[in-house]
Amino acid sequence: MKILRTENLTKTYGKGATKVTALDNLNFNVNKGEFVSIIGASGSGKSTLLHMLGGVDRPTKGKVFIEDVDISLMNETELALFRRRKVGLIYQFYNLIPTLNVKKNILLPMLLDGKKVDRKHFDEIVKMLGLKNRLNHFPNELSGGQQQRVAIGRALIYRPAIVLADEPTGNLDRKNSEGILDMLKISNKEYKQTILLITHDEKISLQGDRIIAIEDGKILSDEVISR
Ligand code: ADP
Ligand code: MG
Repeated sequence: MKILRTENLTKTYGKGATKVTALDNLNFNVNKGEFVSIIGASGSGKSTLLHMLGGVDRPTKGKVFIEDVDISLMNETELALFRRRKVGLIYQFYNLIPTLNVKKNILLPMLLDGKKVDRKHFDEIVKMLGLKNRLNHFPNELSGGQQQRVAIGRALIYRPAIVLADEPTGNLDRKNSEGILDMLKISNKEYKQTILLITHDEKISLQGDRIIAIEDGKILSDEVISR
């Protein structure tokens, strides 16, 4: 099943002499359960792509289908719900809510929706992330690696169609980076969670099962890794 599909996805910023084509007619699919790395140099359009796929910003031209729904047709309210329920966003700088403890940060998407929490799923995620004895702590009482694990928990709690991670280890040391990548891999293998990992680092991109390289907003190569 195709969980994600783009059709001539194009994004330009500015106009006239300052116009930048950040994404140039991208066409690609992601199947359910895939772990795809997107690699490209700084400025190649990676973050722009993630914003289009996650409904954070809108394409200039073209379409994004998530589970066969064209998100480019959604109004702002629909898009807000889509972001909360269907995508798990993980950023370089964690983006946690400083006034909420770890438990509430992880459960935030469900709390905002007034949804009943699946206790078993929550416990499993917390166990996998090794956050069991940090649930009542606040973000500023955690290390960078721990904060990113909370962000992963928040991204996974709704069992989203796709997890989008933009340089999630960019701010972490090697040991913590490995931990974060391991957790993404576990969620891919054990929960069949579809993941799109953005990085400029070739070594990190090798964690995926498939690598899409982009340059100047275009797909340069798209290869499945054989192990
Ligand atoms: P990456 O994440 O690969 O470093 P980005 O997607 O952030 O690349 O940027 C792609 C291109 O689009 C760059 O040339 C960047 O300068 C430009 N760009 C990104 N965001 C904006 C914006 N809000 N306004 C104007 N130009 C932008
Ligand atoms: Mg970027």
